[in-house]
Amino acid sequence: FSFDSFKLMQSLIHHSSLAIANSTLRNQLQEMVDHDHLTKLYARNYLDEYVESALKNDDCGMFLLLDIDNFKRVNDTYGHQVGDEILVQIADQLRVLVGSRGICARWGGEEMAVYVPNISPDEAIILSNRIVEVIPEVTNPRVTISAGLVTGNEYQKQEFQTIFLEADTALYHAKKNGKNQVCIFNEAMLLHS
Ligand code: GH3
Ligand code: MG
Ligand code: MG
Repeated sequence: FSFDSFKLMQSLIHHSSLAIANSTLRNQLQEMVDHDHLTKLYARNYLDEYVESALKNDDCGMFLLLDIDNFKRVNDTYGHQVGDEILVQIADQLRVLVGSRGICARWGGEEMAVYVPNISPDEAIILSNRIVEVIPEVTNPRVTISAGLVTGNEYQKQEFQTIFLEADTALYHAKKNGKNQVCIFNEAMLLHS
């Protein structure tokens, strides 16, 4: 080794370690942007993009929008921190129930969403009911949730925005119908909301 080649090598190593550190940071940053900090569920943006692209290939999936019942009362009674813990308990359970079949996201404050590609309407209903059934058993203090499901014919060949509005309409019906339940979207709901 001449001194010059040593210097060259040193500089190459220096530059490549910088590049590696850079790309690691970039990945970490992307990871942070894609996830919700509290629940570690996917963030809304990620879900939007994921579903929009998945819809192009998938014509029998499910989209479930869920919302905690009377959550304001829980916060008022136990405090915001306990409310946050409940959000984490629900998120953990969603991950267990959905697993690698689909993705779970924190949609907003106390609203979460589940998207599963390639699932039959029957299975979608079973999974959604299971989620609503199990959440009260794994939350402490106990909370129930309401959910709006879009699947089957209503799901096929639609824009994500439409699917979301339909899930929201079905969720609204679940709330009006007494909460702690899943409502499956159908066109008639649009006439009564
Ligand atoms: P409903 O059954 O109709 O959904 O009633 P609700 O009380 O759950 O609905 P409302 O929209 O009136 O209240 C939602 C509450 O969720 C209010 C807000 O304080 C709480 N919330 C939203 N985001 C968070 C959060 O990140 N942490 C906690 N602890 N609470 C949150
Ligand atoms: Mg809400
Ligand atoms: Mg609520």
